[in-house]
Amino acid sequence: MSSPALVFEGVGKSYGSIPAAVDVDLEVQRGELVTLIGPSGCGKSTALRLMAGLERPDRGRILVAGEVVAGPGTFVQPEKRRVGMVFQDHALFPHLSVERNVAFGLIDLPRAERKARVAEVLGLVRLADKAKRYPHELSGGEQQRVALARALAPKPAVVLLDEPFSSLDENLRAQVRAELVGVLRATGTTAVFVTHDQTEALSIGDRVVVMQAGHIEQADTPQRVFESPASRFVASFMGDADFLPAHVHSALLTCEIGVVSTVPGWGRADVDVEVVLRPHEVALSPAVGRKGEGPEVVAVEYHGAFVLHTVRLASGRTLRSWQQHAVRYPVGTPVEASVVAGVTPTLLVGDRAVVAPPAAPPLS
Ligand code: ADP
Repeated sequence: MSSPALVFEGVGKSYGSIPAAVDVDLEVQRGELVTLIGPSGCGKSTALRLMAGLERPDRGRILVAGEVVAGPGTFVQPEKRRVGMVFQDHALFPHLSVERNVAFGLIDLPRAERKARVAEVLGLVRLADKAKRYPHELSGGEQQRVALARALAPKPAVVLLDEPFSSLDENLRAQVRAELVGVLRATGTTAVFVTHDQTEALSIGDRVVVMQAGHIEQADTPQRVFESPASRFVASFMGDADFLPAHVHSALLTCEIGVVSTVPGWGRADVDVEVVLRPHEVALSPAVGRKGEGPEVVAVEYHGAFVLHTVRLASGRTLRSWQQHAVRYPVGTPVEASVVAGVTPTLLVGDRAVVAPPAAPPLS
């Protein structure tokens, strides 16, 4: 079996007393697209800089395509690593034409080969006809494709992309993203993206790596990160989430809004947990003729295709619910809230998700 494109083994990096990477383990397989996401300051850029060789780890090892590029007694300079970079602002040389920008990393190749490779990668990013232009004569999306072509030209083992779409305006971003991901997929390129946009992280990546305070909280498929978050932090960072105290008894999960679901395998459990509910998992219906206290709509936010309703429960806790475009319960409407059938929500004990009943405390 071929070695992974990129490996972090127990990598640590601090700036003074600030830990930017703490015991980071990560394997990126060949052809995989991985996104790194987390709040500002969580260590995303540091991780990328360590991969590129722009920082040295304090401990641990980094391997690119099976070769140790950083570790005790070893440090391979950035230009000697098989790593390509695409920056937020494209970082193209303004005084060089498109083809000369792309040729920049190919100095070592004989002239004819270099020309052929430049033509090949410009073809891949569909810019063959713009080879003689200068960066300022291109659109933002085209500039980004030149930056990608330049990164791909030396056939790197992995391409690192640091917030590559954040300088593009909203309308252009989705299109450029689709084009760029299309090129990466078509060429079987391994890529690590840094992003601060949750939707982007979920839609681009084969795997999403969620970081906090220099730690990897969860590295998983987009579906699992969203549907089975490993912790309270991941649940609330990757999408909207509300948390309600809940109880599991005889495999039945209940909370303030009633029975949520059954929990297979929890037949003997009798434990307090918290249930994580996302707005698309919460159903509402008007509580016609209800007397007394009960859930009530306290905010309505129109989002176009969907309308976000915030409901205050009798306990004072709030719960959010997406409703279809045409449904709007005005503020003050008494409602019944329930969990959409078929949902198996995440359960938390403390800040960690649990999939099996927590062990009973040892008898003292
Ligand atoms: P992110 O990219 O997720 O915003 P960074 O990797 O840039 O996070 O930063 C991680 C932590 O390391 C932050 O607390 C940041 O202030 C600190 N940091 C990053 N680079 C340096 C540096 N060159 N000198 C000192 N502290 C730094």
